[in-house]
Amino acid sequence: MLIGVPKEIKNNENRVGLTPAGVAELRKHGHTVYVQATAGLGSGFQDAEYQQAGAEMLPTIEDVYATADMIIKVKEPIQQEYSLIKEGQLLFTYFHFASSEELTHAMLERKAVCLAYETVELPSRALPLLIPMSEVAGRMAPQEGAKYLEKPLKGRGILLGGVPGVKPAHVLVLGGGIVGTQAAKIAAGLGAQVTLMDISLNRLRELDDIMPKNVSTVYSNEYNIREAIKTADLIVGAVLIPGAKAPHLITRDMLKDMKPGTVLVDVAVDQGGCIETCRPTTHEDPTFIIDDVVHYCVANMPGAVPYTSTLALTNATLPYAVKLANQGWRVACLLNEDLQKGLNVVNGEVVYKGVAEAWGLPL
Ligand code: NAD
Repeated sequence: MLIGVPKEIKNNENRVGLTPAGVAELRKHGHTVYVQATAGLGSGFQDAEYQQAGAEMLPTIEDVYATADMIIKVKEPIQQEYSLIKEGQLLFTYFHFASSEELTHAMLERKAVCLAYETVELPSRALPLLIPMSEVAGRMAPQEGAKYLEKPLKGRGILLGGVPGVKPAHVLVLGGGIVGTQAAKIAAGLGAQVTLMDISLNRLRELDDIMPKNVSTVYSNEYNIREAIKTADLIVGAVLIPGAKAPHLITRDMLKDMKPGTVLVDVAVDQGGCIETCRPTTHEDPTFIIDDVVHYCVANMPGAVPYTSTLALTNATLPYAVKLANQGWRVACLLNEDLQKGLNVVNGEVVYKGVAEAWGLPL
């Protein structure tokens, strides 16, 4: 198959859909891989590395779309790319169709085959192509929190791990899923005293078994949250209710019970946030302050660490990309139920229930 890897052109997107290692793997299976010149630079991969792995470099994005049967990328195509997409071309990338009617109609008109990373689903209902980004955001949360706890950045001026003779910081993590588990682990590793809350008792049992001694698991309810925020220095929001907006576990009135300079990192901001006072921010201007409490609510946290994020994402996408290239999307989706769940738009028709419902389109 002819596979194309364009450079991402969405604002501030430095990740790339395929690494040189991915090129080598697809070449091993007999496929031709076209990579747009400088596509990997933002993630730290030079053109020469792609060439050594067997890629053919193309100068422009137009060349890549015109040549390839399958496009592998990271973000949904943006307006400038719509007209480049060919009828029947397979696009393997994040789409998030339910949040963009314009994109949905554009892909229907282009008669593309859109296999969306975010809806590829395992029989366990886990989303294998979203997990790596949750892992990145979860591990970043204490790192960002620690930074904004510093006095010059308007935080309380407390070191997460303390020092001998001085108590460490108290980190409260709301939600013990992928993000919360990674956040708790890193905060604990830095020496903080961590409280990890979830509403699933089974999840709390598992976490209690695997977490280090400085992580306490506590059942998530309003009473326990109100108690914990009084002593917390850093609060990480990491809850998710699948298919719904995040619940506001921390409401506006609770800010007055927090210590001045407390930092809130609401990772769940992309689903509306679990802290009432959070609104999405960007890496250029990541924080704002309300009632002396620092709010960090970047909706695309993994974007700040494109090297790690690209490798983490492509570790998960590559095995699927190889199947798609070897078998073609029809057979690959027939043989793999998880890949089939990724099909959202096929040759001018919506084939994913959530997208059809979002825009009132026939299924
Ligand atoms: P997950 O499904 O693995 O975990 C969510 C957890 O929240 C579950 O364990 C669930 O039991 C728990 N939960 C639900 N209601 C709760 C409540 N009332 N109190 C406490 N816990 C509760 O989800 P995840 O992969 O960890 O993702 C968490 C959020 O982070 C999602 O909104 C996701 O979209 C977001 N996210 C954001 C970024 C970013 O850059 N900002 C990156 C990746 C993921």
